[in-house]
Amino acid sequence: MFDSKITKKLISEEQIQQTVSRLGKEVTEHYTGIDQELLVVGLLRGSFIFMADLVRCIELPLCVDFMTVSSYGDGTISSGDVKIIMDLDTSIEGRDVLLVEDIVDTGKTFSKVIRMMNNRNPNSLKVCTFLNKPECRTADVTVDFCGMDIPNEFVVGYGLDFAQQYRNLPYVGVLGE
Ligand code: 5GP
Repeated sequence: MFDSKITKKLISEEQIQQTVSRLGKEVTEHYTGIDQELLVVGLLRGSFIFMADLVRCIELPLCVDFMTVSSYGDGTISSGDVKIIMDLDTSIEGRDVLLVEDIVDTGKTFSKVIRMMNNRNPNSLKVCTFLNKPECRTADVTVDFCGMDIPNEFVVGYGLDFAQQYRNLPYVGVLGE
């Protein structure tokens, strides 16, 4: 079995569905009445499955775009030294932008990306994450739309990887030794 090394199922498919649907409602409520299309920006690769589910729960006209950033550290700890690997196709100047991330851990990556995006003068910038590890936070990041808080454990599945594996796991689990 491809998931035989998963020792604990942390979030089931049903819980994921409920969480994404709630987030979609919150986002829809927040942006209802804006006078232009919402621009939803996903940070690759981790957010690709969450993003696909989330946009289908947002009942508003919207566009999507993606950005790939890389955080260089000693391999296990986020250094916060963020480099753009693939930039957006869309100009965000004057746009209402929702930035979508798979998981916020220390918050260093997200805070750097938020700063870079704000320098491009969007009309508004809000952030949405599927998972959040509040215990690990070292950077000052305000998450506007948060799926679930989880403990300080390394999780995989639903887009999240370990060495590029396990992204296709339909639930979120903890990988054993
Ligand atoms: P931060 O800069 O907030 O410490 O790190 C955020 C990034 O680290 C996430 O976008 C994700 O790529 C990775 N990350 C943090 N925690 C986990 C985890 O539990 N599992 C996986 N697969 N990636 C994680």
